[in-house]
Amino acid sequence: MELSRRSFLKLSGAGAGVVALSQLGFPAPAFAAGEELRIREAKETTTVCPYCSVGCSAIVSVQDGKVVGLEGLPDSPINRASLCSKGQSIYQVANNDRRLGKVLYRAPGATDWEEKSWEDAIPAIARLIKDTRDATFVETEEVDGAKVTVNRCEGIAQLGGAALDNEECYLASKFARGIGLVYIEHQARI
Ligand code: SF4
Repeated sequence: MELSRRSFLKLSGAGAGVVALSQLGFPAPAFAAGEELRIREAKETTTVCPYCSVGCSAIVSVQDGKVVGLEGLPDSPINRASLCSKGQSIYQVANNDRRLGKVLYRAPGATDWEEKSWEDAIPAIARLIKDTRDATFVETEEVDGAKVTVNRCEGIAQLGGAALDNEECYLASKFARGIGLVYIEHQARI
């Protein structure tokens, strides 16, 4: 029988749990059935922890739109099924009544927020980026008495986060450099 790393960890974890609980007087088969039921109907998917640049992967079990299980991904060469205490709390990003689920906009000088659709928000963000770039673009600079072409935008900064993978970071930084940004930072360096 071929046993994946994940199956091995599951079996050894379940085995250890059953032995420990039976030693405490719990009926082991009942406990094992309860553990299985908890996520049996859930859909499993993988994700990357957003909290730091280590980039640990996790398996998330989702049922009825709620996260009901979370474990480190055994196949990840980075964390090999482990998650630190922050990583173990990432289900709270999803199971959280305080999480914003809609675009909110506060007009300049206003005190109240209004709901907007993504169809309204994305063109408005693009317009602001373009206008700011055009207003703050520097084409040349004097260096040692000579005019040097610099072509940079000094009015926008970009900050990346650890939840972006290599390819997303590549695209995000290409876009930023393409429009002339020089203030480009990443959460992991701050
Ligand atoms: S689980 Fe911990 S170490 Fe891994 S990415 Fe998340 S915060 Fe970083």
